[in-house]
Amino acid sequence: MTERVFNFAAGPATLPLTVLQQAQRDLISLPGLGVSPLEISHRSPWFLDVIEEAAATIGDLLGVPSTHRVVFCQGGATQQFSMAPMNLSTGPATTASAYIVSGSWGLKAALEAARHGFVDTAWTGAHLGFTRVPEPAEWSVAPDAAYLHVTSNETIEGVQWPQMPAAPEGVPLVVDASSDFLSRPFDVRDAGLLYAGAQKNAGPAGVTIVIVREDLLDRVPSGLPTTLDYRTYVEHASLYNTPPVFAIYVVMLVTRWLRYEVGGLAEQDRRNREKASSLYDAIDDSDGFYTGHAEASSRSLMNVTFRLPSEELDARFVSEAAERGLAELKGHRSVGGIRASIYNAMPIEGAEALAGFMRGFASRHSSTLD
Ligand code: PMP
Repeated sequence: MTERVFNFAAGPATLPLTVLQQAQRDLISLPGLGVSPLEISHRSPWFLDVIEEAAATIGDLLGVPSTHRVVFCQGGATQQFSMAPMNLSTGPATTASAYIVSGSWGLKAALEAARHGFVDTAWTGAHLGFTRVPEPAEWSVAPDAAYLHVTSNETIEGVQWPQMPAAPEGVPLVVDASSDFLSRPFDVRDAGLLYAGAQKNAGPAGVTIVIVREDLLDRVPSGLPTTLDYRTYVEHASLYNTPPVFAIYVVMLVTRWLRYEVGGLAEQDRRNREKASSLYDAIDDSDGFYTGHAEASSRSLMNVTFRLPSEELDARFVSEAAERGLAELKGHRSVGGIRASIYNAMPIEGAEALAGFMRGFASRHSSTLD
């Protein structure tokens, strides 16, 4: 098959076509250099420009202030589940680190942090089946907490914070932004640490973008393994050891696309809302044929999760959609149902094609339920 499908996978996920085309053009030989980006030294002037441009464009898109640094790590967001507590939960602050658990990834992050120190679960939505984020009155955090960790978008359940919560004065907010990074404007000044695996909105798997407020590095304990210490990445401009050259090159292309082709995060946010509305409208107009997983106020603009009246219909939906070039719609095994991931690079036409399919499928099958 050479035709591209609309790929609704949760990550690794669809990338902008123009980015893939550029990577294809460069793959065998970079103009003027005669080598592939898969072959080139991470110390080459070409790559030093690439990594600098990638970090700078992320900085421009998000308006990262001079108090913060953008670095590139490996080990996925999962490694950040360990690095955040290892780096930030000791030192001057010796009390618990606080976690708001609004889905499966936040839970994993909290469990990992518990291996490194005390964890205070400021709120969990586990008893609700992770269908929403908390109201401000439902959670509180001790003023001496080491930090407050939140997951801006829970990829599995499709639960997203409409706005980031505010941590108490003096408590740094740590954000796992893996699945909504660069999808909407975000005030980085509100975060002490933000991390995101690239493979949803920012590029291919293999690189994790970390934005850290520099003053927090003062509390990093000595004796951490070198590659698990944020200071290593800041002090060596993410080049202490060989970084994932090709992945960072593609991240650079994606950030260029976002900045120059899309026109920035406000426009990307507008497009993401339009895509999400077309799918949520198809759910809401279906007279109960489709049931959304998340409560309306916490619905994700990135991962639209819903189920049909039976598991048989879920399976039929997935396979009939795939026949029409609407791929990777099966929900995560822990939640079931359907999950449509509509990250930045999913075109509006893809979301509209899926919404049209949903309406048709519901009208074909609703009558069989009576
Ligand atoms: N956090 C979130 C919100 C995620 O969606 C994921 C991956 N789906 C992870 C963490 C784990 O990321 P990785 O596989 O890159 O370690």
